Amino acid sequence: MCAGIQVAIGENIERIYKQNCQNLGLLTSTNFALIDRIRAGEEIALSEFTAGEDEITRQVIEYGGLFPFNVARMQGKVFLPPIETSARAMTLAEKIFAAHMLPAASETAVPTRAVKPGDTGFTRVDLRFSHEYVTPMASIFYEQNVGRNVPVNDASSIRFFRDHLTFLDEVISEEKKKMGLLDLATQLKLKQEDFAKQQGIKLHGELADRKGSEGICHSVMLETYALPGQVNVGSDSHTPHVGAIGCIAFGIGTTDVFNSWITKDVRVKLPESVKIVIRGKRHPNVTAKDFILKILSLDYVRSGKALAKVMEYAGEAVEALSVDERATMTNMAAEIGGFTGIVAPDEKVVEFLIERRGMKRAEIEKMIEGLESDRNAEYAQVIELDAAEITPMVATPGDPGNGKYIRELNARVPIEIAYGGTCTAGKNEDMDMYASVLADALKHGKRVSKNVEFWIQFGSQETREYSKRKGYIEIFEKAGAHVIEPSCGACINAGPGVSTRPEQVVISAQNRNFPGRSGPGQLYLASPLTVAASAVAGYIVEYAPSNASDLILT
Ligand code: SF4
Repeated sequence: MCAGIQVAIGENIERIYKQNCQNLGLLTSTNFALIDRIRAGEEIALSEFTAGEDEITRQVIEYGGLFPFNVARMQGKVFLPPIETSARAMTLAEKIFAAHMLPAASETAVPTRAVKPGDTGFTRVDLRFSHEYVTPMASIFYEQNVGRNVPVNDASSIRFFRDHLTFLDEVISEEKKKMGLLDLATQLKLKQEDFAKQQGIKLHGELADRKGSEGICHSVMLETYALPGQVNVGSDSHTPHVGAIGCIAFGIGTTDVFNSWITKDVRVKLPESVKIVIRGKRHPNVTAKDFILKILSLDYVRSGKALAKVMEYAGEAVEALSVDERATMTNMAAEIGGFTGIVAPDEKVVEFLIERRGMKRAEIEKMIEGLESDRNAEYAQVIELDAAEITPMVATPGDPGNGKYIRELNARVPIEIAYGGTCTAGKNEDMDMYASVLADALKHGKRVSKNVEFWIQFGSQETREYSKRKGYIEIFEKAGAHVIEPSCGACINAGPGVSTRPEQVVISAQNRNFPGRSGPGQLYLASPLTVAASAVAGYIVEYAPSNASDLILT
């Protein structure tokens, strides 16, 4: 918009981007015929950009953006169509939305009783968070449109995070420094700190006594804040991470972040759900990461049919996973292109909340009552997998959907860097996995291969403390791994562990491997067990659990 762009036309337009454009008053279309008409100077009716949109979206576009629409909404000047869906069998996601959708007439009236895919409206949100990439722009919108001294709506349910760029100064090139990019990155941090202080918003920032962050946003939200049955929104595509606890959590754009600070709600179109059932028992060297890489490789997902849908994971093999492991799968609903990922809360969630938050069992059991899909709930698709058929996987460089069984790799793949960390693989249970492999290696007189640099980065200080208590840090260091404080770091080419040459091969437990994201190298995605075993072997291998006579299966 600053560059004077008024219309964006593309073959397809991603949900968060599209909603951001609508919220800003920037028109979008997939109709390429418009290009010649615009070039010819023809006047195009606004209705060409609102065709096929729901009633609320049409009004947002016609008002010129979400902020002017919301101002009119608060003045009672706009018409919010009521959700009139009659009682029906619902999925877990639909039930949570039904309890959160605002009624049309009064925001304090009885909540909507039933919803169906396609219903539109505003959902109340329990928790909102953003990180230093997004908070500054949203706060500038807020200060310009609302006023610096006007308090945000319920600061106590907003969180900020300094996590993405904490280690940027260690890897940024001299050339980029000369362009002023490091200074700009520092400005992001400072602006977020200033707005947090001004508004009394809790900021999980940098450590006072050493370099590093308190934690990555998703890690801290799962460990500390999100609760079953809630609706959470965050300024990041991996916000679905906390769906592992049985809540609806989805990523929103900067404009929705800014508007949610005023209204404490977010505009949604109710998504369809896909049920992914994994039956049976997994092999001991197979993890949630292998499950999700398998799911990402399925035709249904690769052909885009799962886009913008809720991924509901179920079945015996999912029930057997801990909350940390389930979070790997809900987090990577983002790679599927899904609206979010969710697992129905059960005894594992009860135990997690007792152990990690000190909550009372009776309180949690009451909270999760009824939080399950109805037996006859409708799904866009049900996918069934057998855990016993899944062996350790990698996604070959370029796309998380390039899943392959390690045993089907054509040739040995030597690696130079192994990286274990990020929101996806920097949790307590991920540390258990790195530690078990490295302890095994030490027991067999092995260490990290001399050809490999192995970086282990915690997702949060809580995980660092856990690793310290368990004696893992000692194991990591003894085995030759570099241990680093929490931050997104190498995941976004902003910290130790990034590749520096195109031919460099990296194996990482992070969630995405798009070209260039973590440096110019060739990045394979894999589970924490595979990453650690490969770091020891010096090439990509499946991990053979501890009672095997040799550490490595070739
Ligand atoms: S660790 Fe990576 S995927 Fe996770 S929030 Fe940070 S940048 Fe995003």
